[in-house]
Amino acid sequence: MSKKLRVATTSLAGCFGCHMSLLDIDERLFPLLELVEFDRSPITDIKHCGPCDIGIVEGGVCNAENVHVLHEFRKNCKILIAIGACAINGGLPAQRNHLDLASCLTEVYLTEPGLEHGHIPNDPELPLPLDKVHPLHEVVKIDYFIPGCPPSADAIWKFLTDLIAGKTPELGHGLIKYD
Ligand code: SF4
Repeated sequence: MSKKLRVATTSLAGCFGCHMSLLDIDERLFPLLELVEFDRSPITDIKHCGPCDIGIVEGGVCNAENVHVLHEFRKNCKILIAIGACAINGGLPAQRNHLDLASCLTEVYLTEPGLEHGHIPNDPELPLPLDKVHPLHEVVKIDYFIPGCPPSADAIWKFLTDLIAGKTPELGHGLIKYD
């Protein structure tokens, strides 16, 4: 039997919906696991991406930790895939891009009622937010994009099985969507 491909996944500034769609391939997970083994992913709890054949990244880049993780994936994955609207164009989190970050933090934590902190959180454990939320391709080279919010399980299945078979992935009519 040929060696299994190694696959890593992560969620940056996303809602995990794209990962849920991946898990929605349901019983097809069993044949998939005959072909691949998972590195960093929600089902292995590995904390750092090691050398992999395929990396799948959900979500855009909104803070310094996202930048670090994305570079780690790019360095270790032969093929890097941006999955979903947030990864491809920033998606919902990028709606803050037309606002000034400092003003947002001041309003939320200092001037508006509701929160009792009295200060803007600055624990060194917290990743520094970026001024803007970036799509992945603005930070590293991306090899493939799977659109949708989220893409359907059938689209993800078709894309991955094409790729694993050594073919250029093709999402035909009915599998590409942008909402
Ligand atoms: Fe969630 Fe949609 Fe973003 Fe995927 S593209 S992480 S489903 S908001």
